[in-house]
Amino acid sequence: MAEKIPFITREKAEEIAAVIPTPFHIYTEEGIRKTARALKEAFAWNRGFREYFAVKATPNPYILNILKEEGCGVDCSSVTELVLSRACGFAGKEVMFSSNETEPGEFAMANEMGGIINLDDITLIDTLEQACGIPDTVCCRFNPGGEFVLGNAIMDHPKDAKYGMTRPQLFEAYRILRDKGAKHFGIHAFLASNTLSNAYYPHLAEILFTLAVDLLKETGIRIDFINLSGGVGVAYRPDEPENDIGEIGRGVQAAYESILVPAGLGHAAILTELGRYMLASNGALVTKAIHEKHTYKEYIGVDACACNLMRPAMYGAYHHITVLGREQAACDHMYDVVGSLCENNDKFAIDRMLPEIRRGDYLYIHDTGAHGFSMGYNYNGKLRSAEVLLHPDGTWQMIRRAETMADYFATFDFSDFHFE
Ligand SMILES: *Cc1c(COP(=O)(O)O)cnc(C)c1O
Repeated sequence: MAEKIPFITREKAEEIAAVIPTPFHIYTEEGIRKTARALKEAFAWNRGFREYFAVKATPNPYILNILKEEGCGVDCSSVTELVLSRACGFAGKEVMFSSNETEPGEFAMANEMGGIINLDDITLIDTLEQACGIPDTVCCRFNPGGEFVLGNAIMDHPKDAKYGMTRPQLFEAYRILRDKGAKHFGIHAFLASNTLSNAYYPHLAEILFTLAVDLLKETGIRIDFINLSGGVGVAYRPDEPENDIGEIGRGVQAAYESILVPAGLGHAAILTELGRYMLASNGALVTKAIHEKHTYKEYIGVDACACNLMRPAMYGAYHHITVLGREQAACDHMYDVVGSLCENNDKFAIDRMLPEIRRGDYLYIHDTGAHGFSMGYNYNGKLRSAEVLLHPDGTWQMIRRAETMADYFATFDFSDFHFE
């Protein structure tokens, strides 16, 4: 079984917790840069390649700035995410707007920033035209329906997904957009989430490349970029095999050379909108054991709860846990590691074998850097935690303060109530 190694020690956790009380999310700058560079390297064969980081995964300007320095753009789907990205200096073709159920004002703002608009539905052409006119460059989102199969495994069910257009709608959308003056076209699809297979992107690429060739043959419309979107996963469990991004890049390249190049589409840029792959393993949730309870099971209560990390409660997702300072100890105790919500699904781990945990121990919950903090909420009046960035030289910096009760009550600022 492969080991999962925390990127901080118990001493570092203590040093930070002396200033920023637990729980907090922490991110490794070194890891983020390494991941971004490996991705870029894997697609270096494609001249126009760019990663548009899915902002919803980790919407923090300090993190976005690091990714910007590494040459990434941003993938947004709301005005708030656009404002956040604009504050970091993202503009023009560094911005992808992959929204759905979109309001005209959202298109207007994405267009004002010069971003690339990705249409989820054919009816949104009218919305876009009324909001800001049809831009020169437009992308359309495809949904092939049916099941998405990889080898002999069903990966997902596009037929049940709300996203994207059918093939006839897609071709019709490109024709309409061309007739309304659009000049550059992209194609996008997101068919399976958190995939642990080097074949996901290459297979998706084959589908989209073939579609681009068919579109050219049937309509004469040339696709200029192909957006493989998100969906490349990380190994949350220590016994799962990690994806190999180099292998993934080579797989997409093979499809590119066998399908696009012979059809005269060898100019097309490959784009990605990865969130999880970029950040998940480069972030962790650090929480303190505050209580133990012995009833029908052995419980360890921690000061984080599902409001800080929703994935276990929402999806039954596995997140590996390391007891800091006891990395080498035998995992000979079985625990449920639980938060304080009045909700029995508030469990970070169930029947998990761990070393003996004592009150005051720091628990390091792995792989929370994407869709972790960002899915946070305020149930039971729980407040969102701080976020911390660990620099390559071992120094660290707070990149978001913890919420206060004043933040929680701020939406009653119109009223006569006083919360003290
Ligand atoms: C959520 C999302 C992503 C990122 O997905 P990951 O699973 O984090 O890679 C990319 N594109 C779109 C349109 C999304 O909705």
